[in-house]
Amino acid sequence: MGLVNLYSDTQTRPTSAMRTAMAEAEVGDEQRFEDPQVTALCARVAELLGMEAAVFLPSGTMCNEIAFRLHIRPGGDEAILHRTSHPIIAEAGGPAAFAGAMMYPLDTPLGMFTADDVRGALRRPGDRYSPRSRLVSVEQTTNMAGGRVWPLAQLRDVVAAAREAGLRLHMDGARLMNAVVASGVPASEMTAGFDTAWLDFTKGLGAPLGACLAGSAELIDEAWRYKQMLGGALRQAGIVAAGALYALDHHVDRLAEDHANAAVLARGLAELPGVTIDPDAVETNIVIFEHDDPEGLCARLREQDVVMGAIGPRRVRAVTHLDVDAEAIQRALHALERVCA
Ligand SMILES: *Cc1c(COP(=O)(O)O)cnc(C)c1O
Repeated sequence: MGLVNLYSDTQTRPTSAMRTAMAEAEVGDEQRFEDPQVTALCARVAELLGMEAAVFLPSGTMCNEIAFRLHIRPGGDEAILHRTSHPIIAEAGGPAAFAGAMMYPLDTPLGMFTADDVRGALRRPGDRYSPRSRLVSVEQTTNMAGGRVWPLAQLRDVVAAAREAGLRLHMDGARLMNAVVASGVPASEMTAGFDTAWLDFTKGLGAPLGACLAGSAELIDEAWRYKQMLGGALRQAGIVAAGALYALDHHVDRLAEDHANAAVLARGLAELPGVTIDPDAVETNIVIFEHDDPEGLCARLREQDVVMGAIGPRRVRAVTHLDVDAEAIQRALHALERVCA
């Protein structure tokens, strides 16, 4: 009986079948376009996301950083995005340092916003006192709002509002495939109208590292400059890309199991004293609940071999993934019962 590690879906370890695929992969020099795995992966992701091209990068953070650099021009350009989004809370200020972006953080419910919210954030064109509105960035699913799936109609309205104002659009798809599996909407429909979008292989997909940023051939050509600049141009990256290809073949449909496990966890949590959660709000693999003492709760759970993350003065996050099965969820619930009693 090992640890039940619900800290994040980044905690997955490559399975032995994935390791075999990686070990046997034919590889080459990635930055000379000679790695067959990376070439295949980029073509596959471009098609999946309905884009012309894609580039393989070491991390999702680098996808966001390069995308912001592609869209934001020097001279006071502004990005409109949710205040809890990853580029604001977890990229070391990169969009400011690397792209020179002004950020317009939206404080709207559930990590999502509407076309009207975008319109309300627009600066007046030609106003020399204001930053210049340039980019809208969305997170599918919303991480810090509990893995919510942007409804397709809402995405389309946001795209239309941004386009009407001449803005670029970027989708942080760290958990895009969770949204696809939960909603049944194909990835390419969710990314329609976006200039750039990316997929992470290290979250629920269970690969050890890597992400792919997709967009027009022109934007991805330009992205290669920044990949080079940041030291993200690689060599025999096919060892890693083979893991990502394996994940696309074998670890997408099974995300439904993670969602079912998260729903069971949420329903169990709702029964516990001192815990506040709406189980119906859990749509994918992220479970966020309220408690008076998140740090204390997590410390006591840790003593019972269950790991969750305190993400604020009142909030705890648990994330399901392929290394946590239904039986492990029951063990987590038993530990929670003891700790909350
Ligand atoms: C994890 C995550 C990222 C960053 O991905 P890494 O591969 O860890 O760099 C970006 N956005 C969201 C929403 C994430 O959850």
